[in-house]
Amino acid sequence: MASLNYNRPAGDGNLYIVKSDNRVELFDANKVVVSLIKSGVDYRLACDIVDDLQYRVHDGITTKALRTILLNIIDQKSPDAALRYKQSHEMYVRTSRGTLEPFDYKMIENSLVKETGITQESAMHVAKEVEAKLRKLKVNYLSAPLIREIVTVQLLEEGLEEARSKYTRLGMPVHDVTHLIEQGSKENANLHHNPETIHKFAGDQILREYLLVQVLPKHIADAHMRGDIHIHDADYFAVRPNCLQHDLSWFFENGLRVDGTGKHTSVAAPPKHAMVAALHAAKILASSQTNMAGGQSLDNFNIFMAPFFTGMSREEVKQVAQAFVYEMNMQYVARGGQVVFSNVDIELTIPKYLADKPAIGPKGKVMGTYKDYQDELYTFTDALLDVFIDGDALGKPHLFPNVIVKTRDSAFKDPQQKELLFKVHQLFSKYGTPYILNMLPDWQHDAVNSMGCRTRLSGDWADKQGYENPGMSTMRTGNIHYNTVNLPRIALEANGNDGKIFEILDSRLDLIREALEIKHDLVKKRLYENQILPFLTQKGRHGEDYYRFEDLTHTVGFVGLNELVQAHTGSMLHESQDAYDFGMDVIRYMRDWADSLSDITGWRWTLTQTPAESTAGRFARLDMKAFGARALVHGDRNTGGVYYTNSSHMPVDADISLFDRAKMEGKFHPVCNGGHITHLFLGEGTPDPAGLMSLTEKLCRNTSMGLFDYTRDLTTCRKCGTVAGGLLNSCPNCNANGKDLEYYSRITGYCQRIGSGDSAGGWNDAKIAELRDRKRYCIN
Ligand SMILES: [Zn+2]
Repeated sequence: MASLNYNRPAGDGNLYIVKSDNRVELFDANKVVVSLIKSGVDYRLACDIVDDLQYRVHDGITTKALRTILLNIIDQKSPDAALRYKQSHEMYVRTSRGTLEPFDYKMIENSLVKETGITQESAMHVAKEVEAKLRKLKVNYLSAPLIREIVTVQLLEEGLEEARSKYTRLGMPVHDVTHLIEQGSKENANLHHNPETIHKFAGDQILREYLLVQVLPKHIADAHMRGDIHIHDADYFAVRPNCLQHDLSWFFENGLRVDGTGKHTSVAAPPKHAMVAALHAAKILASSQTNMAGGQSLDNFNIFMAPFFTGMSREEVKQVAQAFVYEMNMQYVARGGQVVFSNVDIELTIPKYLADKPAIGPKGKVMGTYKDYQDELYTFTDALLDVFIDGDALGKPHLFPNVIVKTRDSAFKDPQQKELLFKVHQLFSKYGTPYILNMLPDWQHDAVNSMGCRTRLSGDWADKQGYENPGMSTMRTGNIHYNTVNLPRIALEANGNDGKIFEILDSRLDLIREALEIKHDLVKKRLYENQILPFLTQKGRHGEDYYRFEDLTHTVGFVGLNELVQAHTGSMLHESQDAYDFGMDVIRYMRDWADSLSDITGWRWTLTQTPAESTAGRFARLDMKAFGARALVHGDRNTGGVYYTNSSHMPVDADISLFDRAKMEGKFHPVCNGGHITHLFLGEGTPDPAGLMSLTEKLCRNTSMGLFDYTRDLTTCRKCGTVAGGLLNSCPNCNANGKDLEYYSRITGYCQRIGSGDSAGGWNDAKIAELRDRKRYCIN
């Protein structure tokens, strides 16, 4: 025994045991007997076991060896007793690998070093403290998550806060998972309650928490949680960029690899037929969204399709248009089981900047220039609009893709274009689904596009960068991300002090900038280092990347300008010129900030009107909590269904004429270069398309609106297929009610089902409150 490396009173004749931490303890036979009895072994058997044990232990034996010998003896005498003893004396862990293993503090120690970077010594200390706590708890079966929770508490007690956030586990309370499975979530009206969305929301939750504990610095995460700012798409922040305007002609030239590489799927050569071209377009929108957080859009959709229709009858052309629209509304397979959030920008004529460009036709061959295809453009656009006007087999509207109609001066003069524009207004009149992109104002570039989510890309950037083709800044690129400032809160904090408003705004903009810089670096890493966005990095035949990373917009958005000026000046935007002018100052200030960042960083920074489907409600709720009655929220304070006015819109219930609303909101559009929109809510009944079209001309010529829509509330009857304006209690044709009726309206950037006569749909409480308050205009 001379070789034993421990301290004990020498030569006292007792047996000493060496514990796992090298401490030494006297072997006590009585203690063993007691512990055997405690585990359920009867007294006689216990004494018998300990008798045997005493012969087989030697001085200096380790606890581990002693336990092995003891278990062997019990097992020989009574396997049942051995099992009971094991269960009551060892801590077993249900590991995340699905195995049952004896507890070993070393596992904690090692994982702490690996995951948090704290010293081995400090990790051992934490691990042993945790073991002591667990033994005190007398838990027989431990789970890995439980141990992790106790370790994180221990880390906090030791003041190791940073290590704690690295070591913590991300996930959901059991109760929330049950609720999610049984009730669903109302975060996004486009996501319905189904098995796929349950998985999506569960996964989203983890990535959202990951963002807050790991990706964003604490001061930004806190500002988001407090509601000073809103970090959008938290679930996708760490992995995906936001949205993308596609260039269909690029795929018509290069062929299609839906996985980006052609390794996992069939690869298609450039299409030969119009039908295949249209199906490729649908596949592009569907497969690219697997790499993206937001909407997918095809700019110049009808122009790039036009060369494929050469020599086809109108009937054949309509068949192609129909196939495309149904594809986009029936591929119920996007992120978590929804249809793809999609968008097409169409032209009524060939714009100057595309007119002399080589037209890509069947098999990727150049067939003259795009200006040669005005007739095909007309036929296809006419057919496409008819498909939308027809609705689906039940008479319901096709909700996707959003159709953005670029409306130029000639649209009101040229007979053919006027015919098309009239159809656009028939569609407005029936379903209220399209959008007018007003190309008339002087500030509008010849090359510009928009999405229903309102991300806007303009050729200005190409001019500024010296690109020969303005399309290089409007296609194959998009928005990398946008974050939103809670404007009303700034006024509440500034307490009437003008200077203070801009001071606080500056500090919020700093946060937004920092978050967008983090996003920029992350996306770059995901694209080129982790290579997990292969759709975007696929290469064309000249070796170029499809995705134009260098032209992505980095965007700041805002909510509640109206409530900011109201809190600051005492009047809402539409109530006094001073209030309005001050609001404009705030928005111009933010635009100047974005412009100056573009100059400083060389990246593209823009200002957008945040769609705020859930942010308008979230900010209002948080401000009501923090500022009580001072928070000037709309909606119902008692139920919590409160909201702020979106972006720089006039309040939805403002008692102003449609034209005044358009004028006042329109002045903000050129300032908000990253995205803007005005919704004009129409009242019940069916507006006359011709009247609506002349209103459009008046609005295009006399206001500064860049993008607007007429939003209709609709009731559709599942029984007889009637579509009627307004949210009705019964079908005006067959009197059906309850579950036979479906309600629709535009939520923010897209039309969506509100619910049916007997159950709610996907709209959140704040948006339902806004829907109730909307002032609706009658045109006729
Ligand atoms: Zn009916």
